[in-house]
Amino acid sequence: MKKYALITGGSRGIGRAVAMRLSRDGMPVIVNYVSNDAAAEETKQMIESQGGVCELLKFDIADAQAVDAALQQWEDFHPDDYIAVLVNNAGTRRDNLMIMMGDDDWHSVIDTPLNGFFYITRRVVKTMIRQRDGRIVNMASLSGLKGVPGQTNYSAAKAAIIGATKALAQEVAKRKVTVNAVAPGFIATDMTAGLDEAALSKMIPAQRFGTPDEVAAAVAFLASPEASYITGQVLQVNGGLYS
Ligand code: NAP
Repeated sequence: MKKYALITGGSRGIGRAVAMRLSRDGMPVIVNYVSNDAAAEETKQMIESQGGVCELLKFDIADAQAVDAALQQWEDFHPDDYIAVLVNNAGTRRDNLMIMMGDDDWHSVIDTPLNGFFYITRRVVKTMIRQRDGRIVNMASLSGLKGVPGQTNYSAAKAAIIGATKALAQEVAKRKVTVNAVAPGFIATDMTAGLDEAALSKMIPAQRFGTPDEVAAAVAFLASPEASYITGQVLQVNGGLYS
């Protein structure tokens, strides 16, 4: 029986760094993504070139039926294996002031990280409970703790993920499943590529954006056997930019 790690949104940015790190830590990884085949293939090659095992699983986490179909297919191919580490990382943002925010901007940002977290986790956690073994790490954000103007949709989704993390942690703790969140500040990825890094860095005590690897290190710790008595927590990775 092999224990896999599933990383949603693992084709690029933080998710890619997490997939590479968990692979280096010895786990076979499943990398989910939604559209960027080239980036996903590149991630797979990078993992294989460091000696790891990587399977790509393309589906839209915001589509409940697509989630069920993809996970069912994976389980059918892997009757003796299970997902022991789930990193709910895929996310998207569509910033706008609330007075200008359209229904689409609101719903798409609630649908992807928040509903996606629900569709995947309710399924994967069942096996973890049965196995009495599991680590769930949810990618929150400073925005979900502090609230960021122009991000009412994103802040709402990320704050909700923190609430769900704390609730689920208490539901499954006695089955040896832990549920934690990581809340990054500004991290240099495609998602932040359009921001004025030099100007924003001045308000970060560390005076710079973080790297995806620095977030991956926090995820890897929470996903490790060493973190067995840590659950329902939010680990901030933000260079000192606290709310
Ligand atoms: P990114 O570089 O934009 O990458 C986003 C990833 O999510 C890609 O792999 C993308 O797949 C995938 N994705 C998007 N929508 C999806 C969907 N509906 N179904 C499946 N996969 C989907 O983002 P990032 O900066 O690495 O952010 C990763 C996570 O960290 C997000 O939850 C984000 O909110 C959070 N975060 C980021 C920062 C930051 O400063 N970067 C700060 C705090 C929190 P494709 O490649 O196929 O598009």
